[in-house]
Amino acid sequence: MNQNDAVTAPSPMDSLELDIRDLRVEYRTMEGTVYALNGIDLQIPKGRTLGLVGETGAGKSTTGLAIMNLIPSPPGVIVSGSIFLGGESILKKSEKEMNLIRGNKVSMIFQDPMTSLNPVVPVVDQIMEVIEHHEKISPRESLPKALEMLEMVGIPRNRAHEYPHQFSGGMKQRVIIAIALACSPYLLIADEPTTALDVTIQAQVLDMMRELRKKYQMSMLMITHDLGIVVEICDLVAVIYDGRVVEHGTLRDIFINTRHPYTEGLFNSLPDMENPKAELKPIPGLMPDPTRIPTGCPFHPRCGYAMDICAKTRPSRYYASTEHYVECHLYDEKTVVSGGRIKQ
Ligand code: SF4
Repeated sequence: MNQNDAVTAPSPMDSLELDIRDLRVEYRTMEGTVYALNGIDLQIPKGRTLGLVGETGAGKSTTGLAIMNLIPSPPGVIVSGSIFLGGESILKKSEKEMNLIRGNKVSMIFQDPMTSLNPVVPVVDQIMEVIEHHEKISPRESLPKALEMLEMVGIPRNRAHEYPHQFSGGMKQRVIIAIALACSPYLLIADEPTTALDVTIQAQVLDMMRELRKKYQMSMLMITHDLGIVVEICDLVAVIYDGRVVEHGTLRDIFINTRHPYTEGLFNSLPDMENPKAELKPIPGLMPDPTRIPTGCPFHPRCGYAMDICAKTRPSRYYASTEHYVECHLYDEKTVVSGGRIKQ
């Protein structure tokens, strides 16, 4: 693998829908500073879906909020870094400017969609409201568009004037997706969008999202802890640990040519479908306390491959290909010569 400390974009700037560089976000609380994102880099080329995978507390949702420019401040502070949406820098935008960008350029489906709907407003009105706000059109013009959106997500017109409580969980999720897509955003961020659904409905919703992504030619950021969802819908994967991407690659790179011990640990903790009686091997220990990040590689207290250097020095980035990189001392040729191990 080649070392490349300078973060190199896999594609030219103008072909990226999302381009995050060295983003650092902290929450400064009475109990101490929470280091939520510690230099995250994330690029999504136009029309592609990237899965952001990791355990709870790794920084996945903070990344989604940062892209929407919705980090609550205080206590949240964007310490450094940049976020470009379609080539446009967003971190210095005013709230008024962001209101236009949200919905038109980027939309987000939040972790708990069931509570995102207004219980006292019929579902079609909730979609019309979004369209009217962004397109500055009248209710008479927005109604047919809203009905079309509902049909597109599989909700018949004769149910459009019903209230959220009259819908099942899966149907409510479809309404949320219709609202998120109402203004045809270029980038859709979906934060654990199927967590609250049972497995059959989850599969239907994922199928629908895949179809809509193709139809609208959107890019998508799928935030999830579930590698099963990643394999269903993503073509790129970024594995996040302690607010940093520790391995990035295509679906094949991550699933077939796994490099990082943490990614390996995520796979080992999944049930083995061919041998359901096999013992699960969860990653030992817990995510580090985000107010006290370990020195060196933050995964070292949990890593079965850890070497002396791992506790002292943060690993550099090593590239196996343009899109597949890893941050781990196992791939540093100097470390390998002095006793490191490389997974073939
Ligand atoms: Fe494990 Fe060291 Fe690699 Fe970190 S740098 S993942 S501790 S081998």
